[in-house]
Amino acid sequence: MVSKLSIRENEYINTSSYLQGLDCSGCTKQYSHEQIHTYCPECQSTLLVRYDLKSISNRVDRAEIKMRSNGMWRWKEVLPVKDPVNFVYLGEGDTPLLRLHNLGKDLGLTNLYVKDESINPTGSFKARGLAAAVSKAKELGIEKVIIPTAGNAGGAMAAYAARANLKALIYMPKDTPIANIEESRKMGAEVILVDGLISDAGGMAGEKAKAEGWFDLSTFKEPYRVEGKKIMGYELAESFNWSLPDVIIYPTGGGTGLVGMWKAFAEMEEMGWLRDSKKPRMVAVQAEGCAPVVKAFEEGLSYCDFWTDAQTVASGLRVPKSFADKIILDDLRASKGTAVAVSDQALLSSQDKLGRLEGIFAAPEGAATLTALEKLIEEKWIQPDEQVVLFNTGTGLKYLN
Ligand SMILES: *Cc1c(COP(=O)(O)O)cnc(C)c1O
Ligand SMILES: [Zn+2]
Repeated sequence: MVSKLSIRENEYINTSSYLQGLDCSGCTKQYSHEQIHTYCPECQSTLLVRYDLKSISNRVDRAEIKMRSNGMWRWKEVLPVKDPVNFVYLGEGDTPLLRLHNLGKDLGLTNLYVKDESINPTGSFKARGLAAAVSKAKELGIEKVIIPTAGNAGGAMAAYAARANLKALIYMPKDTPIANIEESRKMGAEVILVDGLISDAGGMAGEKAKAEGWFDLSTFKEPYRVEGKKIMGYELAESFNWSLPDVIIYPTGGGTGLVGMWKAFAEMEEMGWLRDSKKPRMVAVQAEGCAPVVKAFEEGLSYCDFWTDAQTVASGLRVPKSFADKIILDDLRASKGTAVAVSDQALLSSQDKLGRLEGIFAAPEGAATLTALEKLIEEKWIQPDEQVVLFNTGTGLKYLN
């Protein structure tokens, strides 16, 4: 006679993930993680992954996770892939949290850091999200994946799809940095260059997906990319000894990292992994030439208006409207954070400054966080002794034409 409890226990014997299901972020509908889902068909909102956090809290020691070998997958309990044979790993995760002494001195800050995501495979943090999404696609038996991209997501999808033996099709604006186009092709993906923006690419990819059965990995139109990106939040908590920094400054395009980290903080809090209840104030940075989140935040709106004629050298920020705009705005407000727009000229001079003072060749998107920081110091929104973390989301090398 097997007790109910031991049947429960058995659920986890061959699984490392405590994945429980998918919750719609817009209505109350729930979906099964055993089936392939995109977004909620009832209300067109993003589906977010739910885990059995109570069981993790009872059975998993957060300190043990630190002893495991490096990389994103050491957080397997809070990742959506059940069987480790499906982890598609290229070295993503465990990026350094670097103290910025020179810049800190220059700006009058005593606790300034950068989380340097540029060392991820394919040179950007897109690797994290696509590692999770492609691995889960593989687990669900999906054979071909499609993505519209402002650049780095395409390269990352191509890499993980190649390693997982999935077919890859990518739509990107024709003025995307050449490195993104070339790397995608080298890794076996078919690349279609679009005369337009990521939003136009998104429309075309969506139609193609419907017509030919490709699985669409567009930001927030499937549930799993955000799960990979949320691990940045877990790594930060661990680096700060299970207390969180005061401020996180994050370059926001689709918003996956911002929403993901906020989700991670909530999960950790529920599992009792955090030493105190302090949460970071989240800052979304955008370019003046494409700042839908900043505009909606300042106007007190719950959704973004589509930004017309989007233009910026920070191609990852050239997103006229995120599919998850409501979640981004909700999270910014819940965190008592803010949103800042910076000019291309200013972010490029921040890129020089990061290089000159700290030896970091940041992507323009990452450099934009430094420009935003300077504005926020000037406005006294940030105090000299606060712990501030900038996110350098990619390497500047990918933007050389
Ligand atoms: C995609 C991208 C961003 C924006 O990321 P989201 O999480 O989608 O907001 C920022 N920086 C770089 C380098 C990117 O490739
Ligand atoms: Zn819904």
